[in-house]
Amino acid sequence: MSTSTRLPDSGDTSPLPILNNAPAEDLIQTKLMEERARLEQELGVQHKEIHHFKKPVERFFAKSERQRTTILFGGLTWKHEKLVHGALEGLGYKCEAVPTPNVRAFQLGKEYGNNGQCNPTYFTVGNLVQFLQHLEEKGLTKQEIQDRYLFFTAGACGPCRFGMYEAEYRLALRNSGFDGFRVMLFQQSGGLNQAEAEAGLEMNLDFFLGILNALNMGDLINECAYLIRPYEVNAGETDRVLDEVMDFMHGVMRRKRPWLPTGTLGSVASKLGVEGATGYLGKFLEQMWDNDYLDALTEVRHRLNEIRVDRTRPKPIVKITGEFWAQTTEGDGNFNMFRFLQREGAQLIVEPIGTWINYMIHQAIQKNIDRRGLPDGKKMPRPWDLREQWHVQTNFYKKHALLKLAETIFRREYHRVQEALGGIAHGLTDQYELQRVAHPYYNSRAAGGEGHLEVAKNIYYSNKELAHMVLSLKPFGCMPSTQSDGAQSAVVAHYKDIIYLPIETSGEGEVNAHSRVQMALGEARAKAKLEFAEALKRTGFTLEQVQDYVANHEELQRPMYHVPKRKGVVGYGANFILHVADRMKGVAARASGNGHH
Ligand code: SF4
Repeated sequence: MSTSTRLPDSGDTSPLPILNNAPAEDLIQTKLMEERARLEQELGVQHKEIHHFKKPVERFFAKSERQRTTILFGGLTWKHEKLVHGALEGLGYKCEAVPTPNVRAFQLGKEYGNNGQCNPTYFTVGNLVQFLQHLEEKGLTKQEIQDRYLFFTAGACGPCRFGMYEAEYRLALRNSGFDGFRVMLFQQSGGLNQAEAEAGLEMNLDFFLGILNALNMGDLINECAYLIRPYEVNAGETDRVLDEVMDFMHGVMRRKRPWLPTGTLGSVASKLGVEGATGYLGKFLEQMWDNDYLDALTEVRHRLNEIRVDRTRPKPIVKITGEFWAQTTEGDGNFNMFRFLQREGAQLIVEPIGTWINYMIHQAIQKNIDRRGLPDGKKMPRPWDLREQWHVQTNFYKKHALLKLAETIFRREYHRVQEALGGIAHGLTDQYELQRVAHPYYNSRAAGGEGHLEVAKNIYYSNKELAHMVLSLKPFGCMPSTQSDGAQSAVVAHYKDIIYLPIETSGEGEVNAHSRVQMALGEARAKAKLEFAEALKRTGFTLEQVQDYVANHEELQRPMYHVPKRKGVVGYGANFILHVADRMKGVAARASGNGHH
């Protein structure tokens, strides 16, 4: 092979002009292109033109269209979606939640989307296509669908495939004949990509607070139902009550109107030209101290407390973890795992969306600390550049204070809802503790998907004796989950008592997945039964004696009754038996005259 860099003689003998002037550069480029073309032709090489993908310019969703345009959204549980629906309607939007994705949606996603995507992409993208196809079947033309509907979803810039969702939606829509259908993105790190003025969807403080409240309440009502259902005495009662309370809360959210400075305050603020600032402050204060939602949630608590429960049963507690969507959806996307586990007699601790919101804030705090306030792409100023140093330092402290404030307020709001619902649901897990336990196995700065959370939750829930088993739902083709899987082998090698099962969720193979879960659950069930039997033995009572006592004490048959957790005891049943026995002994001791409380 020749090493010469000389171009073959092109037949042109004219002298080359001086190199450092622009016309000469152009001439060289032209000669180069000509020569390349001649060589390609001579060697039979086909010249390929490169067409980069450019995001299509989308039709603007204008304020004037708001009354005749339905905003579609989805991807959560029906409880979250119902409350988000109420919040958006309260703000004056027409909206509709798309149904929970099923296997047919997954197949459509595969048919119209790219190859090699992660499983949630297929499910969610195909689900939108399926919904639009249903609209068409109902008689709407494609044009009408485009004019009257749009889809609103979360997006990010990666690093996992989440960054590709928007492009995937657009591709599948084009391939399925819905080219031009509007997809509006709520960026994980930036807000809506639509100009705010005259926008059909205004991303303002009311919008944020509405969604945040809906998610927090959705998380906690959902968790309460999962905690009560396994112990209900009358089959189906929890679901009946849940339907009622969700309808009630939907109405509460729908009737809620954004706070506005009115009356004297409004006119004074307007005269002083501080209407905007007063509005922000008022909304913020209302969120922090108004009791509207809390009063409604107290109603929900009373209603839930009417469900009769029997906690004198040993039930294995299964903590659900995994990838965000796979651990949240309640359908084919995770093999209907929650329903299956409950049928098998397990009690579930589902994962709230709040953990992930808290995680996002926590990661932003960490990043700010790591970079000492230095914006991306900027170099640290030299030590003697005091002005720049000062600028970077103040930027750091300002950002840190704001993020810490956001973290504190978010946790406070979450826990206010938790308290109002009787305090039986779990509080938000401390992100610093999660980081501490996971970091030796999974670098807590590695972003994407759930980051270090999958590993962290496995250790945390087992170590703190909160669950008998941890089930991780990991989508097929999920990059961060695959990384976590590698780290989990080290975790289970160090924490020998953990019953940890990762299940890869794909559109197919439900029977196989269920049978694997059944095996691990068998082990967890045995653990729960043993613990229950030991607890009973410790009390010195028979199960019948405990049950008799409970039958005579109405409050012990109510789900909102607080049972203290003992060290080393995981199951609700075992803790309940120990607690009731204490009360019985108190009664017995008082009856014999030497008891004390
Ligand atoms: S976390 Fe995994 S499943 Fe979720 S979007 Fe990213 S790659 Fe896909």
